[in-house]
Amino acid sequence: MVELTGVTRTYPGGVTALHSVDLVVEYGELSAIVGPSGSGKSTMLHLIGTLDRPSRGTVRIDGHDVASLSDRRVSALRARRIGFVFQQFHLAAGRDALGNVADGLLYTGAGRRERRRRAEAALARVGLADRLTHRPHQLSGGERQRVAIARAVAGDPPLLLADEPTGNLDSVAGLGVLELLRGLNSAGTTVLVITHDHEIAQSLPRRVSLRDGRVARDV
Ligand code: ADP
Repeated sequence: MVELTGVTRTYPGGVTALHSVDLVVEYGELSAIVGPSGSGKSTMLHLIGTLDRPSRGTVRIDGHDVASLSDRRVSALRARRIGFVFQQFHLAAGRDALGNVADGLLYTGAGRRERRRRAEAALARVGLADRLTHRPHQLSGGERQRVAIARAVAGDPPLLLADEPTGNLDSVAGLGVLELLRGLNSAGTTVLVITHDHEIAQSLPRRVSLRDGRVARDV
């Protein structure tokens, strides 16, 4: 699903956030990316998410060498193959849950009714069938993150990238979100989670530990 080969990322100004990193993530994995603040976790997730390009080295996603694709094809790869979940949820405040998830399907070219049908199915999948018309401020933190996850998976991407998805949640809501990610993984989605939470990291099958921009441990 993901193959990083000799990936280095140096930002303008000179900070090298990743130093020649090699990483293979197989289809169907559920893995944590861990490490102290500043160790390169977000940089790595941005590169895997095709939101950024390496200074050196190769990023392959689902068999595609990202550098060989035009910007348009990279956007299409990102839209169709990768779902994103962030610590801050990033939901539109004025849109209800159904609208937030349906808007995430605009790239598919599906009509409004079809988008809403698929959004409803995705919200049911995350346990929010009874919250379709709630707006973000009417939802708990855990419910908001579920809406964000529904939006990320509504188009059935094979890869889900989550950056501290439980970082703004209490431990009960966080465990609920983790259970949801596990369920999606069991159903076939490859899931990569950045987490500071040791308990969560320990509970996942694989932990890639970054330190100073290098993979320090991978167990
Ligand atoms: P983490 O997610 O583990 O906290 P990051 O990948 O965000 O680590 O950051 C790794 C290093 O790269 C840090 O030293 C950070 O300050 C630097 N960095 C991250 N993003 C940028 C940027 N856009 N421009 C310059 N430096 C950056």
